Amino acid sequence: MIIIMVPQTTDEHVEGVVARLDELGYGHHISRGVERTLIGAIGAPEGEKEMVAEQLSVLPGVERVVPILKSYKLISREHNPRPVTVHIGDAPVGGGHFAVVAGPCSVESREQMVQTATAVKEAGAVGLRGGAYKPRTSPYSFQGLGPEGLEYLAAAREASGLPVITEVMDVRQLEGILEVADCLQIGARNMQNYDLLKEAGAAGKPVMLKRGFASTVEEWLKAAEYIASSGTLDVILCERGIRTFEPTTRFMLDLGGLAAARRETFLPIVADPSHAAGVSSLVPSLALAAVAGGADGLLIEVHPRPDQALSDGPQSLTPALFAELMKRIRQVAEAVGMQM
Ligand code: PEP
Ligand code: MN
Repeated sequence: MIIIMVPQTTDEHVEGVVARLDELGYGHHISRGVERTLIGAIGAPEGEKEMVAEQLSVLPGVERVVPILKSYKLISREHNPRPVTVHIGDAPVGGGHFAVVAGPCSVESREQMVQTATAVKEAGAVGLRGGAYKPRTSPYSFQGLGPEGLEYLAAAREASGLPVITEVMDVRQLEGILEVADCLQIGARNMQNYDLLKEAGAAGKPVMLKRGFASTVEEWLKAAEYIASSGTLDVILCERGIRTFEPTTRFMLDLGGLAAARRETFLPIVADPSHAAGVSSLVPSLALAAVAGGADGLLIEVHPRPDQALSDGPQSLTPALFAELMKRIRQVAEAVGMQM
């Protein structure tokens, strides 16, 4: 880390910082410029850095302390510069493989799931989504079918052969979900539920981590680091839109954030145009923009009867519209050199 001293720093202040670094057992290097004095701290152990940086920042004469290494390392390109492929069941995501996962917001019935799974597979999806446990903003909204929903997910998986991704909201749901899911979804609202991240990371299945809608890219990456440090590098990031001042779309799909995350990590990153758009008519544009913008895949909500959906009907595509969109997704994916 680098300690940047205030413009009119004194020798006494510099000595104070050096004495503290000595006390901690770190080396130091002083660089005196015309305007500023910088002190490099050498050899700080990884686990101490953040705390020590905070402590040093309150010493007299210190303006700020700049960490050099990122606090996410297992998932960083510094750790592994090459993009990796994560498998949902047998479907490859990332490392040049473009994957579309589709299905309803909520699991509602056996027929709905089997019908949707068959249709999205036919159109080229390689995974089935659907929530049995739903994180709803209002406690009076449909909360998901729970274990019964997992049963229908399993039935659709069996009928279609598609691997399944479903959301886990609480560690108590994990055991049941693990019997059915090929990939665990951590939702936007739980991105910083660290105990859940740790349990999901240790569960032995890939994890898709959605970005919190009020979370920075750095917070998102640190959340992914929690999963990685708990036992798995099979993590897929999902950009699903963030909250801004603009109410026209439900959320703002942050393709700049996706590109920035891509620069930092080798993990696959997919986009969810459905929750960002909030209305089905805007889903195709966002989906295609995400493909062109470097996403490794898409998570798209599809419902056989959006007019009867128990959640997120307005943003759900019908199977026919989804099949249409898939043709265009394939064209763009191929144009940007992705395999589909
Ligand atoms: C979902 O995928 O249905 C969902 C609730 O997503 P998010 O966590 O991104 O809101
Ligand atoms: Mn939804």
